[in-house]
Amino acid sequence: MNAASLELLRQGAAELGLELSPAQEAQFGQLLRLLQEGNARLNLTALKTEPDIVLKHFVDSLTCLRGGHLTGPLSVVDLGTGGGFPTFPLAIMQPHLQLTPLDSTRKKIDFVRETALALGLDQVQPLVGRAETLGQQPEHREHYDRVVVRAVAALPILAELALPLLKVGGVLVAQKGPVSSEELLAGRRAAETLGGRVQEVDAFTLPELGDARTLVVVEKIRPTPSKYPRREGVPNAQPLF
Ligand code: SAM
Repeated sequence: MNAASLELLRQGAAELGLELSPAQEAQFGQLLRLLQEGNARLNLTALKTEPDIVLKHFVDSLTCLRGGHLTGPLSVVDLGTGGGFPTFPLAIMQPHLQLTPLDSTRKKIDFVRETALALGLDQVQPLVGRAETLGQQPEHREHYDRVVVRAVAALPILAELALPLLKVGGVLVAQKGPVSSEELLAGRRAAETLGGRVQEVDAFTLPELGDARTLVVVEKIRPTPSKYPRREGVPNAQPLF
């Protein structure tokens, strides 16, 4: 990673109260290289330049740590991880998290698996599948402490995909762009239907770029009714609210 990009990463991390060790800086450098190589083969991200990847993937993913919901030895599903975001930045900076990056696209999960291995991130255990299917399987349903999600769907859809995977007392951390009051209201209603309660809505801007982001935090307060999640594709095609 060039010196200017490294400085952007250090500053972005510092805004979150994080300081990178030399080993963590080396891991981010290796991640950047693997992502650029992987992108040439797999078209994993539209972002191509170094500063874009550093700010819009690395620093942006680290903002999921705002509010302190993702620290400690927690089991975390990264629902719809794509090329491994926010999984990789979180795994590098929070080595106690047990991360399960999940995606329905096998080639993306193959990349995430190879990259985790190359970076020595043993606590990252990728999974291919759809959240609707896993949410009805006993080994995954109500099994995880946290679900984190970045840029996958509108809040009512996310609530249906994520809340069934959480234990009661678990938390969904959804990182999104700007959230309209209509989406938030629909998200609140969906969360209530699924056993959750919106606990926090944290609107902020990305360091350097100023892009609007919102972290929506939903706590699971009771078990999800067994009919949710509905079968594959239905949460997207017919959102609850
Ligand atoms: N989270 C990544 C990021 O921020 O760069 C990727 C976001 S990408 C726009 C959305 C990803 O979610 C895609 O890779 C897609 O395959 C995955 N996805 C969407 N719906 C899903 C579902 N129901 N179960 C599992 N993966 C899903």
